[in-house]
Amino acid sequence: MNEWEGISASSGYALGSAYVLPSALYDTSRRQLEAHEILAEIGRFEANVEKAIRDIDLLKSKAVADNKVEQAAIFTTHISLLRDPEFVGDVTQRIQDEASNAEAMLNEVTEELITMFEAMDNEVLKERCSDLRDVSARIGSYLSGEEEKLQTEFPEPVIMIGVDLAPSLTAKLDVSQVTGFAVDVGGKTSHSAIIARSLGIPAVVGLKDISSSIQTGDFIIIDGYRGTVMVNPSSEVIDAYQKLKHDEDARLARYEMYRELPTVTADGISVQLAINIANPKDAMAVKKVGAEGVGLYRTEFLFMDRKEMPSEEEQYYAYKAAVTAIGEHGPVIIRTLDVGGDKEIPYLQQSKESNPFLGYRAIRLCLGSGNADMFKMQLRAILRASAHGNVKIMYPMIATLQELRAANHLLKEAKVELDAMGVSYDDTVEVGIMIEVPAAALIADQLSKEVDFFSIGTNDLVQYTMAADRMNEQVAYLTQPLHPAVLRLIDQVIRAAHAQNKWVGMCGEMAGHPVAIPILIGMGLDEFSMSPAVLLPARELISKLNRSEMVELVRDVLQMESADEIETYVKSNVLEFE
Ligand code: PEP
Ligand code: MG
Repeated sequence: MNEWEGISASSGYALGSAYVLPSALYDTSRRQLEAHEILAEIGRFEANVEKAIRDIDLLKSKAVADNKVEQAAIFTTHISLLRDPEFVGDVTQRIQDEASNAEAMLNEVTEELITMFEAMDNEVLKERCSDLRDVSARIGSYLSGEEEKLQTEFPEPVIMIGVDLAPSLTAKLDVSQVTGFAVDVGGKTSHSAIIARSLGIPAVVGLKDISSSIQTGDFIIIDGYRGTVMVNPSSEVIDAYQKLKHDEDARLARYEMYRELPTVTADGISVQLAINIANPKDAMAVKKVGAEGVGLYRTEFLFMDRKEMPSEEEQYYAYKAAVTAIGEHGPVIIRTLDVGGDKEIPYLQQSKESNPFLGYRAIRLCLGSGNADMFKMQLRAILRASAHGNVKIMYPMIATLQELRAANHLLKEAKVELDAMGVSYDDTVEVGIMIEVPAAALIADQLSKEVDFFSIGTNDLVQYTMAADRMNEQVAYLTQPLHPAVLRLIDQVIRAAHAQNKWVGMCGEMAGHPVAIPILIGMGLDEFSMSPAVLLPARELISKLNRSEMVELVRDVLQMESADEIETYVKSNVLEFE
């Protein structure tokens, strides 16, 4: 056996025969042209580029119709690459200058660009390499008429091995027979990784030259958790992995049962499980995992990695897209801009701060001098999206009542502005705040009178309570969501809100953590918002808990002396059935 170590791109196990994708799908050898043939050759190349654009456009429409948002986005990139006069122009120029056939010149230009991009220290450009490879292979195969060479249907399940996992290939493949992927290039966020995850197929990427070392028919095991690939393993290894796969299949089948079910404890108490998203595309996961809405839409990603602020129209379309994507499946809680801290926005001219996490960030920045127009523009865009579904507005990093009132004042102005323009919105839209600052937790009784809901942001609440920067490895040991101080604050926040008949959610990482969930159920948390990957396990866990027993658990843990003690106690008393 030999074992390859790569990067885990999509979790799960796969065992079976390899199918190695051919590395070149067309003959790239050079053929000299007579002068009178050159124009016709350029025409042949351009006609095939046009055919590729039409075909990719069809694939894109199919991906859109199948709700495969990631694939659709990749095909959009491919079309713009083929419409980019530089790439296509380089090839036609080369055909002209070198009086050579289109296949060879296309291959030369593609390889040169890939070599150039790979040498740059820029992840986006490196990612362009797989797009280039894909579109170039498509046109090359059209030019040489070898399109049909590629096997896309398999009578038996296979594990696909290749240089890269081209989106145009996966769109054509009968994926029901593909049980795993292993490819030479890519990282956790490369297209191949995204596609594998969206298809739910175990995958390992970044395996360097695995595609030239494996033969079709070799027996392969993919361990998508460890990021390893085993080739022709011993029967003991096969047995061990068959058992792991069997247990995993049973676990996944169990989770699947919870997809359509509401979230209810064993003694009949209902809570809501929602997901956190960073862009409208992510909202698709609500249906995929059976979530009860979006508990946190981090809008700042729309404002990052660009040269100018997104317009009100652009924001409106993004928020509306998230709202319409989930339809009836619960609310979308849209958090207003949370930048500063670790998130820099070049066009906002933020000054350098010695303590950015304690600085001019989130609501402080939005309420800051000269920023009211920017904030109101976002509020108008959110309000407009509220006309299309169930939207709630949430302000981040509130520390004082006055900040909440100032934000609400601007919200009122934004509504008046929309009224004046005759633009519709939901006037009853709920407004809540994140509880991320200990000061806010301690005045939750006052804040709860002026909001519709709280959502506890434990990622920040923990760092501020423990005075330990969440980005600093050296103090990472203090990132303790189960520290008695943090738990007492959370308990106090939930009690204060309930005293005013307001609901409380949690959208920090803690909400999806199996050790925290029993405690939060005992405290009476109403909504848990988490990454989609942990939602079904959380629903299963909650269905086995008894609220009344968890109330007692909370009484016990609030008296304990450390996070470790609390974790051990929950694990041995509650999670033993896991
Ligand atoms: C939090 O602080 O818990 C939170 C959800 O916000 P973010 O992680 O975006 O700061
Ligand atoms: Mg936060």
